[in-house]
Formats: sequence, structure tokens, C-alpha cells
Amino acid sequence: MTRSISPSPARTYRDFVAGQSVMQKARTQARDWAVRALAAGRSLDTGSGWIRFPYYHHVFDDERDGFSRQLSFMADHGDLIGLDDAVAMLAANEPIEGRFFCITFDDGFKNWITNAAPILADHGATVAFFVVTGFIGTSIDQDLEKLLGFYDSGDLLMEFLDWDDCRALAAAGHIVGSHTQGHVHLADLDIAEAEAELKGSKETIEAELGRACDHFCCPFGREGVDYLADRDPDIASRVGYKSFLTTRRGKNGVGASPLSIRRDHLLAGWGDYQLKYFFSG
Ligand SMILES: [Zn+2]
Repeated sequence: MTRSISPSPARTYRDFVAGQSVMQKARTQARDWAVRALAAGRSLDTGSGWIRFPYYHHVFDDERDGFSRQLSFMADHGDLIGLDDAVAMLAANEPIEGRFFCITFDDGFKNWITNAAPILADHGATVAFFVVTGFIGTSIDQDLEKLLGFYDSGDLLMEFLDWDDCRALAAAGHIVGSHTQGHVHLADLDIAEAEAELKGSKETIEAELGRACDHFCCPFGREGVDYLADRDPDIASRVGYKSFLTTRRGKNGVGASPLSIRRDHLLAGWGDYQLKYFFSG
């Protein structure tokens, strides 16, 4: 079967979005103007008592400077903490004194080790990286069809980490958590299949890294759409996870459950006004 794309990885965000339609680009631009206007009236520095979980997918080569600036922005407006500490704070169910940011990454892309990890080291920050175990160690040469299937749009090629990369991230103090075996919609699976995804990925990570895998991040992450709120966090808890992270935006205050963590999606190239807008909502 002949493919019209060349099997090479996306290295810049500019390339990554090059295939977007004119309508998509227009919508992105319109939204950007609205966010810029709305951010002007907002402040992060009023009130405290929360943990926010910013999450990224990638730090492309042309996003390095932006990512570094964003880490400085967060450190200026609160304390950066690791996921073990953040989950322990929520589990304690006591008033949260201060403003905290706990950074996470989803999917398992190669630019975590080439771009994100060195910048995090410069800032002295540790984060949680959630990997899809079935994609770790794939290569564009060997696994082209599988990689093409990772995105619905089907024409983007992202390189994934290998297990040595994951061990290096763990050795640098980061958490490596599970994002399932196959990047599945848990809501579409029966209970045995869902449990197999959560349990199997946990066991693989623990075997490869030689340490406990305590945290789970749900692919796509929308309650009632991508996972079943009355089933899947319970499965996660039963098979031994301490957390279940979603993609619902917002802050997590006292009383928030570690098995239903809200997160704020970010692009590493975004400016301060975008962070200000999303972190104050
Ligand atoms: Zn994902």
C-alpha cells in the first residue's frame, strides 16, 4: 500500500498543525483574540487554596522557549509540586494552604526526552509523564500503520519514547504513570476489558521501570463520554492506583477527589495571557 506522506517525525509545532484546514486556523485565531481580551480582566493572585494540574502533550523544537517561560510563570504565581505530593494533599482532605501547580504530560512522545526533560531540569521541576504502554518502543520504520492510527486525522507522525527513555525520566525524579495500553476510550469497553487496560499497563510499567506505578491518567478524559464515572475510577483504585486524572478543566480545592482530578490543557507555545486566562477559570 502506497502512502502519500513521508515517514518522518513532526519536529516543530508549525509542521504539526500544517495540515489544519483554513476553518480550523480561523477558529483558533478567533479564540485567541477572545482569550487575550478576557485575560486582561483576570488575576491569579487573588485567593489560594488550590492545586492546578496543567497538562501538555508535546514540547516541539519551536516550543522550547515557550515551555521555559511557562515554567517561570507558574513558579511566579505558585509552587510547583510533584504528583505524589499533590495526590497526598487531596487525599488528606484538609485545607490547602497556597497555590500549587502539578504538571503532567500525556501520551509518551519522544520530545519529552529531547526537549521537555532538559528544560524541566534547568528549572528544577519534576512532573508526571503518562505513557501508552503499547506505543512505547515503536518506530516510524517498523510501526507506520500503528502510528498513523494514533490520531483520528491519521496523517501526523509522532515519535514515541522507548523504555530506556522512560527509565531515564524516572531516574531524573519524574513519575511515569499509565495512560492505558492502547489509548482506548474506556467507556466503549466492558468492565473486564477496561480492567485489563488499567492493570496490564500498570504491570508493564512496573516490570520495565522496577518501581511502583501509582497513577493513572484517562485517555481523552471526559466524564460520561470517554470514561464511566461510576465504574472506571473504582477499577483504578481496585487495581492499585492512587489517582485518576481527567481532562475536565478547573482547580482542585479541598474536598476534590484524587480519583477525579481536573486538569488544564496547555500548549507549550502559549503566551502568559493564555495561561492567565485558563488558570483563573
Ligand atoms: Zn492521550
